[in-house]
Amino acid sequence: MTWEEYKKQLPPLYSKKDLTVVERAFEYASEIHKDQERLNGEPFINHPAAVSLKIADLKLSPETVTAALLHDVAEESNASSALKTIRKDFGPDVTFLVKGLTKVDRIHYQGTERNAESLRRMFLAMAQDIRVVIIKLFDRLDNLETLHIFSPDKQKRIGLETLEIFAPLADRLGMGEVKLKLEDGAFKYVYPEEYEWLVKETKEKIHEREAYLKKIIPIVEKEIENEGMKINSIHYRAKHYYSLWKKLLRYNMDWHLIHDLMAVRIVVDSVEECYTILGIIHKLWKPLPGRIKDYIALPKQNGYQSLHTTVFCVDKKVTEFQIRTQEMHNEAEYGIAAHWAWEIAGKPRQLKDMPHKKFSWIKQLQEWQKKFSKSIIGEEFLDALKIDFFKDRVFVLTPKGDVIDLPEGATPVDFAYHIHSEVGNSMVAAKVNNRIVPLSHELISGDIVEIITQKNKKPNLKWLEFAKTPIAKQHIRNAMKEYGLLAAGEGKTAKQRKVEMTITAEDRIGMLKDISAVFSAFRVNLQNINTKDKDSRGIRYTAIYVSFTPKNKEQVPKIIMQLKRIKGVEEISAK
Ligand code: MN
Repeated sequence: MTWEEYKKQLPPLYSKKDLTVVERAFEYASEIHKDQERLNGEPFINHPAAVSLKIADLKLSPETVTAALLHDVAEESNASSALKTIRKDFGPDVTFLVKGLTKVDRIHYQGTERNAESLRRMFLAMAQDIRVVIIKLFDRLDNLETLHIFSPDKQKRIGLETLEIFAPLADRLGMGEVKLKLEDGAFKYVYPEEYEWLVKETKEKIHEREAYLKKIIPIVEKEIENEGMKINSIHYRAKHYYSLWKKLLRYNMDWHLIHDLMAVRIVVDSVEECYTILGIIHKLWKPLPGRIKDYIALPKQNGYQSLHTTVFCVDKKVTEFQIRTQEMHNEAEYGIAAHWAWEIAGKPRQLKDMPHKKFSWIKQLQEWQKKFSKSIIGEEFLDALKIDFFKDRVFVLTPKGDVIDLPEGATPVDFAYHIHSEVGNSMVAAKVNNRIVPLSHELISGDIVEIITQKNKKPNLKWLEFAKTPIAKQHIRNAMKEYGLLAAGEGKTAKQRKVEMTITAEDRIGMLKDISAVFSAFRVNLQNINTKDKDSRGIRYTAIYVSFTPKNKEQVPKIIMQLKRIKGVEEISAK
């Protein structure tokens, strides 16, 4: 593909200035990939070009289109020098995206079901930006088109990875259309026989159904017109194979229970019209009980909105209708991406300006975030499009490809103890990405970590200085005690005993405040305060009982000294 051919396919959204940048990216990518071919014999540049055109069709920013053009550049040439060139010629934003795209390439699904969710999280953590995820989804979609050239083994691996990692991510971002295409693209490689059977089985059914719906649609149109309403579009589309397959499995392969093999979709302008049309359809035909679904009032978790109903239609044939506004329709197809549409006027729409209820998927991501970190993030992350939820976690891999989720700053020692206490205790060395590293080496997301063990090896007290996870620290201490290398209590630097103190003081306003000021000055939190009044020699005194955990033993006499200086403090005892 040449620049001229490419340019013709770009939607007319971008300014002249933006286009010169995109053109430079196109030429740079063409140069880097000039000796490469796609597996189907086409020039390689057709691949990044196709991916970036999809991004442009979604009306995403020129930086995103540029990054999509450059997404395979770092892999083909020397990565660090390519990234240097990209930074110089295309700026930090594009570089950030290309870097993210290169990083997520290291993630591979090995076929062990149980780590799929961790892999999805790891993917988001390493992508760091939702635009990276979107580009990657279209990259995978385009790659599925040449998958038939690969060996059956590779087809199966890529196919499974698509079903387990990419399609669920697309779903989470509300990109329904992309999800369905990814699933159908992978389905035929992962389950070839089932796919073939299903295609054969549905062929006639779809044909029959289409003829039937062609009769139904004019009836609906006429009725809506009679009510004086206008519709944007009315159409039908066959259910995608993979979702049909999953549904058949759920319904014990009973075709009679599949009512949405082909549903009729009605798109209108307003929410009110959606409900009016639902009424019109129910007036025409009797609905099946329990099959009316109001996803407008109660959107699906990924933000999907629509009204669904299934009716006994003409000739008592069970038919599903889906009613939605144009906006809901766009979002059902392209989800989050539909909201970043680059407006001709200039800036992309800000997410914070969007009605919040649409972003229940963001809430879901936030739920993950809550699980992993206590810090509450502000709303800025939405503007920045950054996925910051995982910034205090690192996701690393075992040589077998299992994902291990650790806190930021974790070391091979934490990794080893996370695997098993025995692995930690007998560790002699660690390899990260195939290179021996010090045991205090800080791990980063995507690292492949291998622990080298030796029989009769013992842990080292020094490990406590850099181990990050409580579980590793605990195991190290236990092992040290067991081997007699550590007396009970040694190695515990932070844990101090609780001190209970009684302060007898004159009952005056501000006394408690003065006392607590002393503790704050030592950065000690009072865990308990109690007072009891007493009279002695005609003077009212208060006994103030406090308990606290000092930072170290030396603090206690210092605190007592300070307390004694407070006016009206008579006596202090501590135990
Ligand atoms: Mn690619």
